[in-house]
Amino acid sequence: MDAKEFENKIDGLVSAALSAIESTASLDGLENLRLQYLGREGELTVILRGLASLDKAFRPTAGQLGNQAKQKIEQSHEGKRKYLYEAGLTERMAREAIDVTAPGARYPIGHVHPLSQISSEIISIFYSMGFSVADGPEVETDYYNFDALNTPASHPARDEQDTFYTNMGPSVLLRSQTSTVQIRVMENNKPPLRIIAPGRVYRNEEVNARKYPLFHQVEGLLIDRDVTFGQLKGTLSAFIQALFKKPLKVRFRPDFFPFTEPSAELDSECPFCNGKGCKTCGGRGWLELLGCGMVDPNVLKGVGIDPEEFSGFAFGMGLERLAMLKYDINDIRNFYTNDLRFLEQF
Ligand SMILES: [Zn+2]
Repeated sequence: MDAKEFENKIDGLVSAALSAIESTASLDGLENLRLQYLGREGELTVILRGLASLDKAFRPTAGQLGNQAKQKIEQSHEGKRKYLYEAGLTERMAREAIDVTAPGARYPIGHVHPLSQISSEIISIFYSMGFSVADGPEVETDYYNFDALNTPASHPARDEQDTFYTNMGPSVLLRSQTSTVQIRVMENNKPPLRIIAPGRVYRNEEVNARKYPLFHQVEGLLIDRDVTFGQLKGTLSAFIQALFKKPLKVRFRPDFFPFTEPSAELDSECPFCNGKGCKTCGGRGWLELLGCGMVDPNVLKGVGIDPEEFSGFAFGMGLERLAMLKYDINDIRNFYTNDLRFLEQF
């Protein structure tokens, strides 16, 4: 091979390599071209290895040409490599970019259940009158559910509050009233006391539009020196007016509860017809809302409070009944069936 042939061969190889590099569109393809020309067995490498067989006089020029060719291919390769890398990066950034102005995925957030709504409303009314919230277990012994509330085993009131017994022992049951919390609070705290106890209670009842084996009560208790029935009336009357946001009249009818003496049922003037008579109050103009009374001295004695020194009043109401009245709901089962068509109305 003479000098001219060598030069032509190198030129041809370089222009083929540069045009191949120019037209390749991927980093993988580019790497293949590098191996094809510059690799250990690459076309240019093989030529440069053969320089020794050339004419001695031409060898230095050929070596120079060969190195220039190698540089041109290397520069072209490096330039293209950078270009492809940056283009890939730009494309990837565009593809993976987060558009912070795009609307996010929305999840339905729901709202507070009507029973929880009325419960927190009642709590906040009594909270404003200085009552605090007390809590107690739902699985109770018959001592707390009955005996301590002046309802011994032979008492007929036990039949009215037939509940569910557990297999944890003959006297372990699901509480049928939140009054159990009153006993626990009185056992562990010295008067004066001012608490309300909201919570779940259970009764062994057949299910219908008015009754359900699980429901909720809010119980209240105030123990202090010289507590009078007048204070009970004032407290509950203020509560009813705050709950219905109306200056409603209330009336107290004698009733019986084992743990209060005297006991009364509180009726409120119907907030829907203002006492004129409507469907909700059955035309009577009055609604039966809650039970109350002065704490029986026997109950105080049982928890170690001297009834000569302290007296008090207690009251209890069913949350479902109040919610049904306030929100005009006609079937108690609606509270527990999780039907969105019902729940979304509140
Ligand atoms: Zn009415």
